Amino acid sequence: MPIQVLDQSTINQIAAGEVVERPASVVKELMENAIDAGSTAITVEIRQGGIGFIRITDNGCGIKKEELPLAFLRHSTSKIRTAEDLLTVSSLGFRGEALSSIAAVSQVELITKTSGSLTGSRYRIEGGEEKGLEEIGAPDGTTFISRNLFFNTPARRKFLKTETTEGAHVTDLVEKIALSHPEISIRLIVNNQSRLHTSGNHNLKDIIYTVYGREIAANLLPVEVSNGIVKISGFIGKPVIARGNRNFENYFINGRYIKSGLVSKAIEDGYKSYMMQHKYPFTLLHLTVEPEFIDVNVHPSKMELRFKDGENMYRVICQAVVDALSGKELIPNVSLMS
Ligand code: ADP
Ligand code: MG
Repeated sequence: MPIQVLDQSTINQIAAGEVVERPASVVKELMENAIDAGSTAITVEIRQGGIGFIRITDNGCGIKKEELPLAFLRHSTSKIRTAEDLLTVSSLGFRGEALSSIAAVSQVELITKTSGSLTGSRYRIEGGEEKGLEEIGAPDGTTFISRNLFFNTPARRKFLKTETTEGAHVTDLVEKIALSHPEISIRLIVNNQSRLHTSGNHNLKDIIYTVYGREIAANLLPVEVSNGIVKISGFIGKPVIARGNRNFENYFINGRYIKSGLVSKAIEDGYKSYMMQHKYPFTLLHLTVEPEFIDVNVHPSKMELRFKDGENMYRVICQAVVDALSGKELIPNVSLMS
């Protein structure tokens, strides 16, 4: 074949492969957009594990009618203007790839209204093809519906697991986002049944109780540390609720759920003298750092990041864990269990 530049819809479908792996990735991108839009309440609804139907409703800033088709173009974003902005970006999104990717591989309907306009708009786009843009009555905020994920890419649809498994991934993700944003009221509805509802009243312990249950919530030690470079707040579990894997090691940086070898090591080293080998702690820590100290532009999923002053970060986190554990009554608290 002669060399050719690929057409836009082919490019979008290839790019979608990086952003949209499964229903949970769609939910992740759309919830992050809702958070970036300043929402105080977000409702996520899925059916058929999210493969058949995902609806995300927020009360954020909305999108202006004239900007709507633009939002679905690849690399279109309102969050950065130049590569320099990446150094200080504080929004969860910035690549401008989510909406175009989701629209490339599903049937999308979006209803949105900004507070400054009298009417809302409804936009439909399926497999990257625009299907219409019209005015419509709507409340302030955005409702985004994705139907029939991978309807036009059967090969990729085959890689999905059962509806139950895909639904479980969505639930895990929504729980993580609820834990990372206690200031937002988050509701999850699975097949018309309510699965999670957080109040948005900033109470992290309430959300831990809701997600992890009574035994975990009864065996937590508070962490509240602040120095020049990082603020750490949240809870760590008494060693008695340790697990055989890292699934309960949660930490968020600037509201972003991440995995980091450095942070995990700092936490585990802090527990060292309290923990048996191959046991991992429960932690739910919020780290707040100036955006200059991290580089989030490492991987499309933004799950990994780099620290500028890693050594310092390691020391502060490790010490925070040591301090939280030391001198505490570490026997299990059973007073709440009847
Ligand atoms: P990014 O989040 O990286 O900017 P997206 O493709 O996810 O890229 O979204 C494109 C743009 O559409 C965003 O920059 C934002 O301006 C707008 N947008 C998307 N979702 C919402 C929403 N729920 N509320 C308000 N604006 C939104
Ligand atoms: Mg986004």
